[in-house]
Amino acid sequence: MNITVLLKSSSQSEPRSVQVRQDDSSLSFICDCPAGERGRICKHKKALASGDDSMLYDEDQREHFENVMEWVTQSGYPDLMKELKEAENTLESAKEKARDIKERITRVMNEGLK
Ligand SMILES: [Zn+2]
Repeated sequence: MNITVLLKSSSQSEPRSVQVRQDDSSLSFICDCPAGERGRICKHKKALASGDDSMLYDEDQREHFENVMEWVTQSGYPDLMKELKEAENTLESAKEKARDIKERITRVMNEGLK
């Protein structure tokens, strides 16, 4: 069974189309954006797999979204998306820490360090 959900695009006014397919209770996502067409994870697929409705193209998509959510909540996606979110948060704080250390090094390189 297939459900197509239209999501907002950041690069064009026409929507992106994500096709969600359930086969033998296994769930797959296909998106027609450039990243999606290369089979990569894109923000559209990511939004649907993580239950984010902020990118729905219009209110007509709500019902499709809710149907997809019934599939998603019964799948392994919520755990995977949570894992990704945690990894991204760890990465973000590591980047901040690296920035802080670089600033300190820049300062001491100008002012001198024993
Ligand atoms: Zn996409």
